[in-house]
Amino acid sequence: MTAKQCIAIVGGGISGLAAGFFLRKRLGERGDIFIFEKDRRLGGTIGTSREQGYLADWGPNGFLDREPLTLNFIDDIGLKEKLYRSNKKSEKRFIYRNNRLHEISANPVKFLAGGLLSARGKLRIGMEIFVPRKKDDEDESIFRFVERRIGREAAEILIDPMVSGIYGGDAEQLSLGACFPVMETMEKEYGGLIKAMIKKGRENKKAGKKGGPAGPSGHLTSFQGGLLTLVERLEEIMAPSIRREEEVLSVVKNSGKFRLATSLGNYDIDRVIIAAPSMAAAAIISDMAPEAAALLRQIPYSNLAVCCQGYKIEDIERSVDGFGFLVPHNQNLEILGSIWTSVIFPEQAPDGFVLFRTMLGGAKNNEIINLGEEKLGVLSHAQLAAIMGIKKPPSYQKIIIWNEAIPQYTLGHRERLRRIEKDLTKLGSIYLAGNAYTGIGLNDAIKRSYYIADNIFRASVS
Ligand SMILES: Cc1cc2nc3c(=O)[nH]c(=O)nc-3n(C[C@H](O)[C@H](O)[C@H](O)COP(=O)(O)OP(=O)(O)OC[C@H]3O[C@@H](n4cnc5c(N)ncnc54)[C@H](O)[C@@H]3O)c2cc1C
Repeated sequence: MTAKQCIAIVGGGISGLAAGFFLRKRLGERGDIFIFEKDRRLGGTIGTSREQGYLADWGPNGFLDREPLTLNFIDDIGLKEKLYRSNKKSEKRFIYRNNRLHEISANPVKFLAGGLLSARGKLRIGMEIFVPRKKDDEDESIFRFVERRIGREAAEILIDPMVSGIYGGDAEQLSLGACFPVMETMEKEYGGLIKAMIKKGRENKKAGKKGGPAGPSGHLTSFQGGLLTLVERLEEIMAPSIRREEEVLSVVKNSGKFRLATSLGNYDIDRVIIAAPSMAAAAIISDMAPEAAALLRQIPYSNLAVCCQGYKIEDIERSVDGFGFLVPHNQNLEILGSIWTSVIFPEQAPDGFVLFRTMLGGAKNNEIINLGEEKLGVLSHAQLAAIMGIKKPPSYQKIIIWNEAIPQYTLGHRERLRRIEKDLTKLGSIYLAGNAYTGIGLNDAIKRSYYIADNIFRASVS
C-alpha cells in the first residue's frame, strides 16, 4: 500500500482541470488534489458567452476529433453525447488576395487551376520535387523552409496566413520543427513534400488507411453550448479540489517536499504540476530554479483580439458558405481572418443570423489590442463588411482581448525545452503542463496533462 500524496495543480484552465481529472481517476483515494486558480472563473482561454441567441466562444472554438486520447477523456467525463461536429457546409476555406476571396481546394489539380497563385508561383510549387533536402540540423523558420521548398509566393500567400490562423504567429520567427514536425520529417525521411505525399499516399493505400501524409486530419468539433460546456463539466467533477481566487506565488523545495505559497496561505506538497502560462510558471519557480525560469521567460506570447459579430443573413451580399477566410500579411489589412462560426456550428447564431469571429493582432501586430474593445469592433466590422458585402452594423457584438494569448515556439524552442526539463529534473516531482511546450492546441494540452498524470501514477506505485 502506497502512502497518500498531496498534489498541487497551478491553474484551472483545461490543462489543470484535465490533469486533476486524470490524477483522480488513477490515484483515487491515494491522492489529495488541489487545483489553484487565481481568477474567479475557470477555463483560462476557454469561455463562451451565451446571449441574445448567440454562442460566442472567447478563445478556442473547437478541437480536431483525430486524437483518441481526447475522445476517451470526453467519454470518461460523460460528455460524449454533447459532442458537436462541424457542419458539412463549412468545408470550403478561403484566402483573401487582391480584394477577393479565393477558395482553397484540397484537391491539388483544382487548387492549381484556381486563381490564388500566379502561374509562376504554381510552377515553383511543382519544382519542389527537384529541391535537395537540407543538409544541416540547424533549426529553421517555417517561412524559410517553405520559401526554400515551394517558393516565396506560396510562403507569403499560403503559409503566412496559416501560421497567423493557428499561432497568431510570425512564420519568419517560428521554428518549423517545433510547430510542424511532420513537415520537417517529410523532408528528412522522404526527401521533400511532394515525394512524401506520393510515397505516404501509396503506403496508406496499401495499409487501407485514410488521411494524408500527416495522418488523418479530423473534423473541428465542439460541444452543444460551446466549449464552455467542457469546462463546466470538469468544474462539476473536480469541485472538491478547486480553490478559486487563490493565486500561487512561489514554490520552493523544503526538506523533501515543496512549500507552496499562495495569496491565501502556505502548503506542504509532495508533487506540483504548473499548468499556468510559461511566464507565470517562471515567476513561481524563479527562487528554486532560476535557470529554468530564465528560459521559460524566453517563450514569447502573441496578443489577439477576437471580435464576435452577428448580422442578419439578408444584410450580407456574399454567400456565407464555408469555414471562413485568412488574410496574408502582405494584403495590408488589420484583420488576420474571420471564422464563419455559425456555419461551422449552426446552433451558435439564431435562425436568420450569422456569427463571425474575426481575429486581429498576432505576433506581427501585437500592439493593436491597445485600441480597446470599441475601436477594435469598428475596425473588424469595417474590414469584414468590405469583404463580405455587409450593409448594416452588427446587431450583436462581443469583443475579447487576450493579452499574451498564444505561446510562440520561436527558433531554438526545442533546445530551450530540453534545458528547462534538465534543470527541473534535478528538483524531482515538479511538472510543467499547458500549451507552451509541446503543442498549442486543446488536444496537445490534454495529452500533455495525461502523460504527466501517468508519470505521477507510475512513480507513486513503483
Ligand atoms: C484566441 C484563441 C483561440 C484559440 N483557438 C483554438 C482552437 O480553435 N483550437 C484549439 O485546439 N486550441 C485553440 N487555442 C489554444 C487553446 O485555447 C489552449 O491550448 C488551451 O486553452 C490552453 O489551456 P491551458 O490550461 O494550458 O492554459 P490557460 O487556458 O491559459 O489556463 C491557465 C490558467 O492558469 C491560471 N493561472 C495563471 N497564473 C496562475 C497562478 N499564479 N496561480 C493560479 N492560477 C494561475 C490562469 O488564470 C488560467 O485560468 C486558442 C487560444 C486562443 C487564445
